[in-house]
Amino acid sequence: MRLKVLYDNEARGDLESDWGFSCLIEEGGRKLLFDTGASDSILARNMEKLGITREEIEVIALSHEHWDHIGGLNAVLHPEVVVYVPASFTVATRKKLKRRVAELKEVSGPADMIPGVHTTGELGAGIKEQSLVLDTQIGEMVLTGCAHPGLDVIMDAARIFGDIGGVMGGFHGFDRLELLNGLKKIIPCHCTVHKTRIMERYPEAAVKCAAGEEIVI
Ligand SMILES: [Zn+2]
Ligand SMILES: [Zn+2]
Repeated sequence: MRLKVLYDNEARGDLESDWGFSCLIEEGGRKLLFDTGASDSILARNMEKLGITREEIEVIALSHEHWDHIGGLNAVLHPEVVVYVPASFTVATRKKLKRRVAELKEVSGPADMIPGVHTTGELGAGIKEQSLVLDTQIGEMVLTGCAHPGLDVIMDAARIFGDIGGVMGGFHGFDRLELLNGLKKIIPCHCTVHKTRIMERYPEAAVKCAAGEEIVI
């Protein structure tokens, strides 16, 4: 499985950084995009520099309905794409999406998206959010947007798919760092408040997140 960060608060090389998150997952010749960042023009330029076209994206999964995760949709929507959103998305957004994609799937509970990629289902009492759970060589890799429900809650939900080997994405204010002990990959991105502490505490497992970063697991 190959993960390519397309949009992040930090960037590498000639890619642009901006507040937001987007990550492309490639598995068995299939491509799923998780979140779209905040700006369609920045996402489009980063994709162009990485040689990615919107038509190759078969599935888009949106973690939650915040602008820094759905703002780039115009750069990636196309008539053949299937889009997964938490069932709690507003009617207005769901209507808009339905007109422009092949199929809109509304997620409540845990489900499979493409082979090797699952969703936790929507979690959280306030801001509802879905996270992805990826079957990798190190076990299940949890991929979060902002982790508003709490990374601990998300990790608990992800365990129905298997033992967790890694976490990646925006971890927000998550500070129960001891829960990350023993993980083989820890990739704090986007809105993670305690990024520096995490990088210092897990020098072997931690990987610096940035647009342009590619992780093969
Ligand atoms: Zn958010
Ligand atoms: Zn965010």
